[in-house]
Amino acid sequence: MDVVGEFQKGEIDGKPCLIYQNVIKPQIHSPNSSDEKHLIQNPLPIQNMTKVAIDSGDNLPPPPLFICPSLRFKLTITIEAKLLDDGGPTPDVDGKLRISHLLGDNMMYGHDILPLFWCNNKEADPKNDCSICNTRKVGTYYYFCVECDQRYHKECVESPLEINYPSHVKHSLQLYNVKTFEHCILSTKKAEVLLYYCALCDIYMHVLCAQAKIPFLIDQPKKHDHTLTLFPRQASLTCNVCGLVDKLHLTYVCRSICDFVAHIDCIHNPQTIRISRHFHGVSFTSSLPSGKWCCGICRREIDSDYGAYSCNVCKDYAVHTRCALRKDIWDGIELEGVPEDKDVEPPFYRIADGIILHFSHGCHMKFETNGVYKENEFCQACVLPINEENFYVCVKCDFILHEKCADAPRKKVHPLHPHPIEQKVVHENHEFECAACMRKSSGFGYVCTINGCDYELDAVCASASEPFNYQVHPHPLFLALDPKKRQYATFASQQEFKR
Ligand SMILES: [Zn+2]
Ligand SMILES: [Zn+2]
Ligand SMILES: [Zn+2]
Ligand SMILES: [Zn+2]
Ligand SMILES: [Zn+2]
Ligand SMILES: [Zn+2]
Ligand SMILES: [Zn+2]
Ligand SMILES: [Zn+2]
Repeated sequence: MDVVGEFQKGEIDGKPCLIYQNVIKPQIHSPNSSDEKHLIQNPLPIQNMTKVAIDSGDNLPPPPLFICPSLRFKLTITIEAKLLDDGGPTPDVDGKLRISHLLGDNMMYGHDILPLFWCNNKEADPKNDCSICNTRKVGTYYYFCVECDQRYHKECVESPLEINYPSHVKHSLQLYNVKTFEHCILSTKKAEVLLYYCALCDIYMHVLCAQAKIPFLIDQPKKHDHTLTLFPRQASLTCNVCGLVDKLHLTYVCRSICDFVAHIDCIHNPQTIRISRHFHGVSFTSSLPSGKWCCGICRREIDSDYGAYSCNVCKDYAVHTRCALRKDIWDGIELEGVPEDKDVEPPFYRIADGIILHFSHGCHMKFETNGVYKENEFCQACVLPINEENFYVCVKCDFILHEKCADAPRKKVHPLHPHPIEQKVVHENHEFECAACMRKSSGFGYVCTINGCDYELDAVCASASEPFNYQVHPHPLFLALDPKKRQYATFASQQEFKR
């Protein structure tokens, strides 16, 4: 039996929405078929069928209708291996699922079919993740496999091999079991393990996201005063929030007099955030003051008639909405109501003319000009020699810092990392590895200020900022914005030229 996931109009809690359903796929018979009257069977909702089977059981456990998802994975792998062994047509061993979720379809493989029981807890189970998708807790409605002793989402168990999604009507999406570096286009979270995938458009959806109900109406007064309505066709409408035409995201329009259009994810964008390319927080604005604006991230023009994020402090800094919300730019934390970072302490205090007290060293340091190269004299921060540069030297010991290294701020943002980083002078084992150039350093580092984020740059890599002015190229250079590229390689090589 071929089943396909589809959306149909319905109502949940009195609110109109599109509701996900599994339906039997219409069978297309060949033209020579004997019963030409029934060329296409009407799709039958099978979800209700399973519900009847469950409810009619009184206290008896419901009959097992679906195959255990873990077994489904194993069977798919077995089929792939068998095809390879037989020298048969080489399957594309790409994680595409080949086993339907229906128990009846899979009897022929002779594998034990694991009984699954429908659980309906009054309280959500707070501890258990779904063992197949690992994305979210199983919640109140889930399946339990006695044989595996595992819990699974209803959506993960009942996921057909193919679904049709309203914002992607051109192609259906197929069920895959893969690890990717891509993100789910619906939740924008990392796409992993059990996914729906369109190979033609290279887009992924989590199984849970792909089966979630789609509301017809959305109220989000922070973005728009009136109720927004789902636009049924995926037309080329420019979103007022991100300024883009993006047919992959569901689009909502204002039915009142205003000409307002927004993608479903843009409607819920955060108001104030911190980005890795600017020291201050940036806030969403529905339009910028008229004039020419250049995005601080991609350097392309911003149309001031559409939404953007602008700096809360600087009057002239703004970035595109979608640029600001990139995973490598924004740390995912909304900052509304959180005050701007207080002024960071300066790296040193001036004691007298040419004498400073640097935070990294207990004694006073004296300013000197035009150092001469000495074999054993290295800056304590960047561990590079003092070479015809200005520097500070301790009045009591041989502690030396380049002028520029002594000036380096205690805390900063860096284009390679979404969180702020701060200077760290003392390291365990007296050295650490720089996350950008992978070299070991015994000098000062900049560590990420977020607990548990183990990111550290050496003083040289941390000092790099955009744009790079590289003498053999006439234009300033900016960091590549392709997240699939290993940014640090190009970045670190720029540093080689600087040294
Ligand atoms: Zn799941
Ligand atoms: Zn597609
Ligand atoms: Zn948008
Ligand atoms: Zn941009
Ligand atoms: Zn600013
Ligand atoms: Zn230095
Ligand atoms: Zn480095
Ligand atoms: Zn970090």
